[in-house]
Amino acid sequence: MDAPSDVPASRTPDLTVLGGGLAGSEAAWQAAERGLRVRLVEMRPVRTTGAHRTDRLAELVCSNSLGSALPDRAPGILMAELRRMDSLLLRCASDCAVAAGGALAVDRDRFAAAVTAAVGSHPGIELVRGEAVRIPEGPCVVATGPLTSPALAASLAELTGERHLYFFDAIAPVVDGDSIDRTVAFQASRYDRGATEEGDYINCPFTSGEYEAFIDALLAAERIPLKGFEQAIDGGVRAGEGTYFEGCLPIEVLASRGRESLAFGPMRPVGLRDPRTGRRPHAVLQLRREDAAGERYNLVGFQTNLRHAEQDRVFRMIPGLARATFARHGEMHRNTFVNAPRILEPTLQMRARPDVFLAGQLTGVEGYLGNIATGLIAGCNAARIASGAPPLVWPAETMTGALVAAITGADPAYFQPVKASLGILPPLADPPRGKRERAAAYAARAAAALGALLASGPA
Ligand SMILES: Cc1cc2nc3c(=O)[nH]c(=O)nc-3n(C[C@H](O)[C@H](O)[C@H](O)COP(=O)(O)OP(=O)(O)OC[C@H]3O[C@@H](n4cnc5c(N)ncnc54)[C@H](O)[C@@H]3O)c2cc1C
Repeated sequence: MDAPSDVPASRTPDLTVLGGGLAGSEAAWQAAERGLRVRLVEMRPVRTTGAHRTDRLAELVCSNSLGSALPDRAPGILMAELRRMDSLLLRCASDCAVAAGGALAVDRDRFAAAVTAAVGSHPGIELVRGEAVRIPEGPCVVATGPLTSPALAASLAELTGERHLYFFDAIAPVVDGDSIDRTVAFQASRYDRGATEEGDYINCPFTSGEYEAFIDALLAAERIPLKGFEQAIDGGVRAGEGTYFEGCLPIEVLASRGRESLAFGPMRPVGLRDPRTGRRPHAVLQLRREDAAGERYNLVGFQTNLRHAEQDRVFRMIPGLARATFARHGEMHRNTFVNAPRILEPTLQMRARPDVFLAGQLTGVEGYLGNIATGLIAGCNAARIASGAPPLVWPAETMTGALVAAITGADPAYFQPVKASLGILPPLADPPRGKRERAAAYAARAAAALGALLASGPA
């Protein structure tokens, strides 16, 4: 790393953390809490990523939801683990929660402000603003995320001996709350299972005729040409449909796979009744609060790469959004991750340089919570090595350990990013018959495994 020119060089840190996103902020905090002098290098606002909008640490660039908080769901299990391991980011998220049914969603501005305040005022952390262009000498956590700057990506590629992998994700638009027509759109949670009495989501109901017209317009709408996009961000990596991340497909791509795929996917109407008709709509777009005041709403599952003017035109065909104003349009972005099974140990150390840890989306872990968890592991293990203790491998029965096992134990020839799910946990010895009972058994086993790890000494 070159010390950014406008920042005075200070004493040598015990650990350098590159990237002040979800993973880097958590890693820096965990290491500093264990007594290390940490230098956290974040390139914003000196250089931005194209997706981030502020200079704050831990800025969430797309959805404001961290996933289901129910104790027997995969994100819920991970949340419980992060809470027990005293994750700073989970604590900030809980403090900044907005109503979102069974999910933990946050006011993104308050969340990022809370993390920035906590990390920025920690006496063991020196926050440096500037782009790291090389992996530095000495202990380091690299957590520069899916939009790692090209210079650092090249340095990482050199160190790993691998070409970076790229693929393409898309983000959903956000509309202003006061531009939603509430005589058409109605407030409700699916099956009335929400945190608030009136319902946590605003729902835009489609008749089958409205749905057909919408699909026609969506399929015919002009997209941002991929080639220009690729050249703009990384010099021409080819992106056919196969290079999208399946969990985050643009709706126009999903719709092109079958006219009803949206009605069975992000627009499924189950558990909802239109109060105007008393009937279940043919399809529904749900709008989720972006902030506690309800000034902005996210179009749930509506990631898109349509031209902005086309988004204005096509999305205003959605019942309830005829006069919608867009606080943010949907966009596509690059994702960057290394071939984890080839280059990483289950401690998140690089095989080629054991004093370098990777954390966050760069490792191939998907999802906000998973990225926070890898930051926690890296910060904790960096501190252990500094004190002469061996780094820890989290038990595979925990969701934290299962994520790391899934990325480091994958087949390197077919490596794809991994998200928290019950399916990555080792099978139960004696699985109960019912789905819910099985999920509860996984959750109980994960809690016991983490309890045993924490009881074995300070992590
Ligand atoms: C547009 C977009 C939409 C996404 N939508 C979702 C979503 O809805 N849900 C979800 O779970 N995940 C989503 N993701 C993935 C999301 O980025 C991760 O889940 C999470 O933010 C990754 O955490 P991270 O710490 O690895 O990276 P980030 O949170 O991106 O943090 C990396 C940080 O490193 C900084 N940085 C980069 N290069 C350098 C450098 N050379 N020197 C210094 N600093 C540097 C960046 O400015 C950034 O602050 C999305 C990603 C993008 C880009």
